[in-house]
Amino acid sequence: MNFNTLQRFTDQAKQAFYWGFLCSLREHEKAMSIENLLVGIQAANSSLLSSSDLQKMGFSPLDVTNLEAIHEEMQKLMLRSRLEQAGQSEERKGGGGLGFSFPSDSSVKLAFDAAEKNADKFGSKWIATAHLLFGIFIADSSLAAKMAAAGWNEQRAIEACQNYMDGAEQNTVAEQIGKWEPRISRCGIGYDLHRLEAGRKLIIGGIEVPFDKGPVGHSDGDVLAHALCDALLGAAGLGDIGTHFPDTDPKWKGANSLLFLEHARKLLDAKHFQIEYVDAVVIMERPKLGPHFPKMRETLAKSLAVFPEQIHVKAKTNEGVDAVGRGEAIACHVAATLTRLNR
Ligand code: MG
Repeated sequence: MNFNTLQRFTDQAKQAFYWGFLCSLREHEKAMSIENLLVGIQAANSSLLSSSDLQKMGFSPLDVTNLEAIHEEMQKLMLRSRLEQAGQSEERKGGGGLGFSFPSDSSVKLAFDAAEKNADKFGSKWIATAHLLFGIFIADSSLAAKMAAAGWNEQRAIEACQNYMDGAEQNTVAEQIGKWEPRISRCGIGYDLHRLEAGRKLIIGGIEVPFDKGPVGHSDGDVLAHALCDALLGAAGLGDIGTHFPDTDPKWKGANSLLFLEHARKLLDAKHFQIEYVDAVVIMERPKLGPHFPKMRETLAKSLAVFPEQIHVKAKTNEGVDAVGRGEAIACHVAATLTRLNR
């Protein structure tokens, strides 16, 4: 489950999901449970489901009176979750737990399906908290039984859906706390070029590629790492590689450029930015780089504490044109996307 798939949700339904997920992170659950979704619904729409209703059902309401504090907590929990999971390769294929991809258990997915069908049935363009609440009834009979303790039955949930006015929750949220978007995205570009000379090591993407020439540079001349660093710093509004690692500083002479990436990652972490995706193109005439891509992605991902699946690398020749085409230089372009929870 990802916020990108939630575009049909009202702001309050998004908040319900977001705060349900906060509960799961706090409890160190791997996926959001349907109980946490219910707690999230109450936090997002207390006029639909009151905190005393929730207590009668046996759950503690989430205190969302201080939005700043709760956003701060969410950011820290998600950052920790991401760092804990980076490098756990068996987790990668599960499609969850990373960044803004929110894993939910199967009953939550059932509830979402039911909520969507019910919104369609009652002619609502939006999926609102009332539709989610109804979805819970359909998806989990034991939770529905608990909800009966607070006077909630299926008929009452259906009535809540029938009474929902299309778009009403957007207006309510806008009036209460301003237009609330769960996250913001930034993109950045980076470019680098180094001259090539015989007898130097060819380092690209943190690995050595066997070749008779390599880049001339103050550091190891890794164009991919340098352009990537610039793309990340650019997206975060943090200047460029020269600002942070001046080539006049003897400290960086012959430096492994992965150190630049690790430092850039720390700068992003401090600003609560997460790396969403990176796409790169390396331009050189020879040798063929394709066979080295998996190792490059693995190496760069490790330095950035992301998964290799978030890094894409391509290669091009310059068709024999200009310095790059004559094999006298290597160049690289990188585009990167960062996301940050809105505050
Ligand atoms: Mg450079």
